[in-house]
Amino acid sequence: MPKASRKLEAGEPLFAGSPRPASISGKSTVDWTGFREALGGVETLTDPSRVKKRSRDFFWYSPILNRELAGCFGDLVVLPKSEDELARCLALAADWRVPVTIRGGGTGNYGQAVPVDGGLIVDMTRMNAILEVGPDFIRVQAGARIATVNRVLSEHGRELPIYPSTEEIATIGGFIAGGSGGIGSIREGMLRDQGNILALSVYSVEKAPRRLIFVGEEANAIHHAWGINGVIADLTLRTVPKRDWVDVLANFPDYPQAFFTAAALGALPRFDLKLLTTIDSRIVAMIRHLEGHVPAGRDLLSAMVAREQLADFEVFIMARGGKLNSARDGRTDGSLPPVSEFSFNHTTLQVLKADRSVTYLQITLSDLESAALIADLRVTFGDEVLMHHEFALLEGRLVAFDLPVVRFTSEARLYEIMDIYRAHGCLISDPHRWTIESGGIKPDYRHLAWKKRLDPHDLLNSAKSRSWQEVKHLSPEDIGQL
Ligand code: FAD
Repeated sequence: MPKASRKLEAGEPLFAGSPRPASISGKSTVDWTGFREALGGVETLTDPSRVKKRSRDFFWYSPILNRELAGCFGDLVVLPKSEDELARCLALAADWRVPVTIRGGGTGNYGQAVPVDGGLIVDMTRMNAILEVGPDFIRVQAGARIATVNRVLSEHGRELPIYPSTEEIATIGGFIAGGSGGIGSIREGMLRDQGNILALSVYSVEKAPRRLIFVGEEANAIHHAWGINGVIADLTLRTVPKRDWVDVLANFPDYPQAFFTAAALGALPRFDLKLLTTIDSRIVAMIRHLEGHVPAGRDLLSAMVAREQLADFEVFIMARGGKLNSARDGRTDGSLPPVSEFSFNHTTLQVLKADRSVTYLQITLSDLESAALIADLRVTFGDEVLMHHEFALLEGRLVAFDLPVVRFTSEARLYEIMDIYRAHGCLISDPHRWTIESGGIKPDYRHLAWKKRLDPHDLLNSAKSRSWQEVKHLSPEDIGQL
């Protein structure tokens, strides 16, 4: 007999009159021992400290999310090893009406994998098989680590076109469900661009889970939906020929010079680049690993450049007043981490290691010609906001994602800073809110139409969508039209 959970009335004590221990989340009335037994041999974690560890991601970058999410935990972790076991977990969760949060490596930044309603955490990392390596694609199970995928591909002379700087921990399913772009975006654009995600196999959360395959553009309804509308079991992704990338550090006397050199490099297709980053000298000074690698007071341009273009690249840098101070095989030279570990959200992490009082923002700059924009903002912000840009193709156009290090004083000031950026024509993706809508990359409600179809009991990470609360009473067809 299913033991359905139920909502507590206001003020009602948990488990009143029951010998059952309080749940780890403090939000659940489920008999978790019975649930575990009913799973019939699927590996689980019940130890509260391990369950709590797997309830977290990197939300703590944000003091606001840290305040709101640090006390949110799941109740039980399951680690399915096969699609069969995964389907069994999802069927039981549907039968018992248990909230479900899917988890990969737990490296998301916005509390994406935090079980705010408590319940079941499905850790996908045991489902990690490489299923097929084709001439220009790879099919893998969702829990495979991205670095493993790239290592297998390199044996075939291929690599992923785009991957995050967290590749050693993050899973490929978590990246497609939670990420957007990264290393490679300078030439290959964003994950959602046509041809990057070829197909996704996705499970529904029902008593008899269905397995659906989303092909091509259809997969974008599941991509970056934070696991609220289905569970990705395997993925087919485009691959590209592997290049011999060299990590490069160059330095400049001032930040605008580094920034506009990067913008010019990014605009020249003859340069084969995998990564192109600029970092303010004041951030460089806070990163211990860079000590001795970048002269004091110099602003940094770092890149991954095709080896055969290194000489040409150096000439370009020098002609613009820069100096190449290091070019090396990042992955084999132990003196410095790869430049990817000073890129995207890793730059912020390097600073946070030294100073936990800072935080960050995520801003898109589309006008790369405007020298005044960078100069004005730097004067306006002084030492409070220190710039760091990642260059990428967004809808085919070169843009710079500013992930500045911000000295945090208050929530109100953080939002004032965002308003100043907005007033300068920049687009904000708010990393201090834990709903999908704050990121602003879902242009329509297709993902919610699929949630209605694949998650009829509203169990999958539901609190993460504000819009879902408004549309969940509608039919999938009506939601899809909105
Ligand atoms: P998790 O954090 O475990 O999960 C992310 C989301 O996906 C959650 O909502 C989860 O419920 C869902 N999910 C996980 N697996 C599945 C599945 N099989 N089916 C359905 N839903 C699922 N992001 C970028 O886009 N680019 C970057 O360059 C980048 N760099 C980063 C650097 C640092 C230092 C950090 C901390 C984060 C960075 N991120 C970046 C964010 C994050 O690393 C990526 O999104 C990452 O790929 C997430 O993978 P994960 O396995 O850790 O996913």
